[in-house]
Amino acid sequence: MLRVLAAILVRPVVRNRRELVTYVASATTLAVVVALVIDIVNQLVFFVSWGDSLRSWAVTIFAAIVIAVPILYGIGRTHLSLHQAKAEVELMSLTDPLTGLANRRAILDRADAAAGTTLVLIIIDIDKFKSVNDTYGHRVGDAVLKTIGQRMAAELGGLGMIGRLGGEEFAVVSSDTPPELVIDRVKAFCTRIAGTPIVAHRIAVTVTVSAGAAIGDGRSFDALYAEADRALYAAKAAGRNRLCLSAGLQDAAVA
Ligand code: GH3
Ligand code: MG
Ligand code: MG
Repeated sequence: MLRVLAAILVRPVVRNRRELVTYVASATTLAVVVALVIDIVNQLVFFVSWGDSLRSWAVTIFAAIVIAVPILYGIGRTHLSLHQAKAEVELMSLTDPLTGLANRRAILDRADAAAGTTLVLIIIDIDKFKSVNDTYGHRVGDAVLKTIGQRMAAELGGLGMIGRLGGEEFAVVSSDTPPELVIDRVKAFCTRIAGTPIVAHRIAVTVTVSAGAAIGDGRSFDALYAEADRALYAAKAAGRNRLCLSAGLQDAAVA
């Protein structure tokens, strides 16, 4: 009971319109009860007649409601706006502004949340992206990044979390799909990217991507990342436009 009162008075939780209505109704009820109790004591101590007392109580109830509802509605609205602003800031801090994908921090959070499970990490890096910028300009480069991000979300989103690690580097983090399936789907995605020009600001740009895949069984995400990065490096060294597996994944494939 005390906890409910404290929640209403000190720390109201107002996350949506339903909770706003609940807050206004419960806090108004509390205000009416307090005002009425004071008035009942007052009327009984200085008793004149039941008629006067009943009239006074009716006026007290009416006045308490008329005063409390707009004030509490204002307070409730402020709490609702604060909650919405906080949720928006939280979302922005986890979102890459260019592509709308999860950012590096969100990916790390996801990896932390999945600690202890078998995690597949695939880093996908656009090949020779510097030359896209140099040839067509940063505006076109940005549009290419955005399109690749959107296509990744649409075509690979079912595998787990898709994010942008930074620059022209993306990631797929999957914990509940068989690794072979994740790898096959990402391989097919890389092939489709190479085979379909991206139209950016009316310019058709053909890019390829390289990918490095690693599997972690409860090891730190940093170790998993380093392994996927090594596999990516191997894909670049082998001529780009391909997916390479980490040593751990190769062993798993052989076994
Ligand atoms: P590699 O095949 O070895 O990956 O070559 P690369 O040119 O893709 O790699 P490098 O690391 O040399 O260059 C990455 C380029 O990505 C350089 C940088 O200007 C560009 N880049 C990074 N972030 C952004 C961005 O947000 N927008 C645009 N337009 N370009 C970006
Ligand atoms: Mg690159
Ligand atoms: Mg890179």
